[in-house]
Amino acid sequence: MTYPGFIRRRLLTYSPVILVAIAIVILGIYLNQLRFNYQVQELRHSLFNQLSVVRAKFEGNINSNAQLVKGLVIAISTEPEMTQERFRALSKPLFLESSQLKNIAAAPNLIIKYMYPLEGNESAVGLNYKNNSTQYQAVKKAVDLDKLVIAGPVTLVQGGQGFIARIPVFISPDTKGKKKLWGIISAVIDTEKLYLMSGIHNNESDFDLAIRGKDALGEQGAVFFGKEDIFNLSPVLVDVTLPYGSWQLAAIPKGGWPKHLANQELFILALVAIGFIILIPLIILGRFLEKRRESETLLSGLFELSPIGIALNDYETGGFVKINSALVTPTGYSREEFLNLSYWDLTPIEFEAQEKIQLESLEKHNEYGPYEKEYIRKDGSRYPVLLRGIVVYSTSGKKMIWSIVEDISDQKRNEKMKDEFISIVSHELRTPLTSISGAVSLALGGAFGELPAQANEIFKVAKLNAERLSFLINDLLDIEKLYAKKMKFDMLVQNLISQVRDAVKINQSYADKYNIELRFIPGIDKVDVSIDYQRLQQVLANLISNAVKFTSKHNHVDIKVKLVNESVRVEVTDYGLGIPKEFYNDVFKKFAQADSSDTRAKGGTGLGLSISREIIEQMNGTIGFESIEGEGSTFYFELPVVYR
Ligand code: ADP
Repeated sequence: MTYPGFIRRRLLTYSPVILVAIAIVILGIYLNQLRFNYQVQELRHSLFNQLSVVRAKFEGNINSNAQLVKGLVIAISTEPEMTQERFRALSKPLFLESSQLKNIAAAPNLIIKYMYPLEGNESAVGLNYKNNSTQYQAVKKAVDLDKLVIAGPVTLVQGGQGFIARIPVFISPDTKGKKKLWGIISAVIDTEKLYLMSGIHNNESDFDLAIRGKDALGEQGAVFFGKEDIFNLSPVLVDVTLPYGSWQLAAIPKGGWPKHLANQELFILALVAIGFIILIPLIILGRFLEKRRESETLLSGLFELSPIGIALNDYETGGFVKINSALVTPTGYSREEFLNLSYWDLTPIEFEAQEKIQLESLEKHNEYGPYEKEYIRKDGSRYPVLLRGIVVYSTSGKKMIWSIVEDISDQKRNEKMKDEFISIVSHELRTPLTSISGAVSLALGGAFGELPAQANEIFKVAKLNAERLSFLINDLLDIEKLYAKKMKFDMLVQNLISQVRDAVKINQSYADKYNIELRFIPGIDKVDVSIDYQRLQQVLANLISNAVKFTSKHNHVDIKVKLVNESVRVEVTDYGLGIPKEFYNDVFKKFAQADSSDTRAKGGTGLGLSISREIIEQMNGTIGFESIEGEGSTFYFELPVVYR
């Protein structure tokens, strides 16, 4: 039988609950049975005790009757020829005592001769046992056994029921020493009286009683008291020992054995309560696990779906523990192959030094990257990846690394294509632009005679735009060269102060157009730095022209040189609008302008500052700015001082 997935998961989650519930039910049934058995056992025990009392009374009464008759036997054995009168006299006292005797007959030579009481029993006198086959058997048994033998109960001729106790009488041995049989004494014991005295007619007793063993035959004998089927209801059994043979008493509780436990309902209720106490936490746990599995499923879905490679590595061994398909696919390996790879199967050995730096970062800061390297594919080819990661600990406390591994092949390819495009376009544009500029200059210079005023204006605008376009192309070429690290730097150790002084001079004519004075305030006379003269002039021209363009409050721009630690700092301060806070992060980015409207951009290309930064950084310096909006800005760069 197959269940839908969610039912199967449910079953799995709740299987402990189901198992425990089943265990509780089984245990409950077992305990119930145990308790029930115990209760039945208790009942049997108590019945046995009560029955033992009945047995003791029974045996006591039978014995006392037997003793009475035995007394008579002794008397006869000494006076075998006694008269009827003598017999009467001897028997009478036996009936005065609280015996259950009904009558006594004595039969010398097995013919009844003496009877007490005679009234009502006259008919029995003269009975010859030898002629009465039924009675003769019992008589012979007593004679043969030389014992008191109890027969019955039998229905008596004079009415009612009775047990007949028979005992043989022998007289003194003859000359050969052999005992001689005189005859037999039989006494009738009143059944009802015996029962009464033995306490088996007690209405208050909580059990039903039956007796079997007619004619002292024990369990072989017929049932003579109580209901016969009591013997089939697993009764408590007790034997009543008679002088010869026995009876068997059987008892069951009144109304039969209990079918189930007393207080069963309470017991079940307690069991259910205990069950709940155990099961509720398990159910809660089950729900918790289900929730957790659910979120795990969601997370692992995301993990697999991620377009970026994700890996979990063992910190100690470096081995891969968990990987997603975005990580595996570009490598050309199968998942199984990948999981068996060692770190250096994937990473080219020349990255060893960089790897070490990343590992140190991981050790110190619990994270590494972002850093670029290459992965080796199964076929040996390589592709660029960008990695970053953090340290995590598994639930068992194991140190692991989560890494995000981005395949940046496309990104790299795009960048390359763009760079190529820009350099091609720039070169292709420069040639026609030069010829346009030349032609316009010629026209404006009067090479074609005096131009009409209107044409002159148009040519002027054309010249300005051709110049702007040429600046843009030059800047573009510069930035691409710088980014591609293809710009050549002729580094020479020179005095920075004279460099800055040159720049102030050169750019003053540009400042004049804005009616601004460039004020140079050198803090020191001489400081040596290692620079490329052309490139440094390019940076200074850019910073100064920006300051001039944006200054509005005063008619000057300040240029200072300061020593800061091991470096020298050149500052260009303007008194303009300043830089808006939200623009801080973009100031040095390509084509970035705080406001592209004409008033802010002032004819710039948005490339000057990014070119400046690249130049300064490639000359081992740093560049930055400070600004207060509405007050102005200070752009500065710092270069390491060369001491010689
Ligand atoms: P641009 O050729 O447009 O001047 P830059 O890279 O030199 O290009 O400058 C980028 C942008 O930074 C400028 O367009 C301007 O918005 C802002 N900027 C640069 N210098 C200053 C300054 N001194 N004061 C205010 N804003 C400035």
